[in-house]
Amino acid sequence: MRQLEGARCALHFDAPSLATCQRCGRFSCQTCLVVTEPPLCSACGPAVVDPYGLHSSSFEFVPAFVIGFKLVMAELPRLLALAAIFAVPAALVQMVLVKEGDDLRAISSSIRVNSLYEFLVGIIGAQAMLALLIARGEGRTLSLGGAFNEGMQNWTRAVGVRFRSGLIIFGFALLLLVPAFWKSTLIMFSSIAVLRSRDRDALEASESIVRGRFWLCLGFGVSAIAVAFVPMIVLESIIAVVFELLSVPRFPHELLTDFVDRFLTDAVMTSVLYAGYVMLHRTAGVELVPMRWWSSRVPPLTSSR
Ligand SMILES: [Zn+2]
Ligand SMILES: [Zn+2]
Repeated sequence: MRQLEGARCALHFDAPSLATCQRCGRFSCQTCLVVTEPPLCSACGPAVVDPYGLHSSSFEFVPAFVIGFKLVMAELPRLLALAAIFAVPAALVQMVLVKEGDDLRAISSSIRVNSLYEFLVGIIGAQAMLALLIARGEGRTLSLGGAFNEGMQNWTRAVGVRFRSGLIIFGFALLLLVPAFWKSTLIMFSSIAVLRSRDRDALEASESIVRGRFWLCLGFGVSAIAVAFVPMIVLESIIAVVFELLSVPRFPHELLTDFVDRFLTDAVMTSVLYAGYVMLHRTAGVELVPMRWWSSRVPPLTSSR
């Protein structure tokens, strides 16, 4: 923002103004300018950088869910768009590779095809949605293209982390059910950490905040899963019944089902887990370094709360 020659701070008349606040336009001196890029005054800075109070709160169950939902509502159009974009190929893959049928073989082959698509392609959409939510929590608005770019750039890292966590859980499950259950709780935040904490090992980042809070995190994780899966089961049953009654062809049915699944898990569940992830750092006394965006062009701060 342009600065008038000889301008004085609005609060400190003896101090020269270094910049005008991008949000309220107040002339701000060195003391008042709490954020320099973009310039934000002491009143606006904290509200813009942490508009949901996410980074200044310790972990609490209900606020984590409330903030998670608020982030989803704020990013709803872009999240729905991403869910739709990634649901189309998923439904096509199902149509082409999986024979229709209700028998066990069709269902198990459908799950296998689905996990391969998720592992390689769906993961980009999931990361893009997470990028939108992280940006929103920081008071930034990421474009759809910007979010997609974050997901693409982080692809190798995300695939690697998903492969490792899958392997660990599988390995533990072969030994015993209890260690598998214990380990999967410890690494429950790795899908968040993979993008949010790019400078750390994602599994280790998750373990560092869960350790010492095992049962709390387990309860939180189970509730986050329930928030996605309960409406998913209800909605899918309704879709199945209605589409059967109207004899809708298979493709729209696959598409809508996948869209609902994707939105509820990759947006709603992820958002709640992300809110918990940030808040648990404060509770655990573990430093959460600022998000390092892949794109060199940092998305601008949103000026409205
Ligand atoms: Zn201001
Ligand atoms: Zn001042």
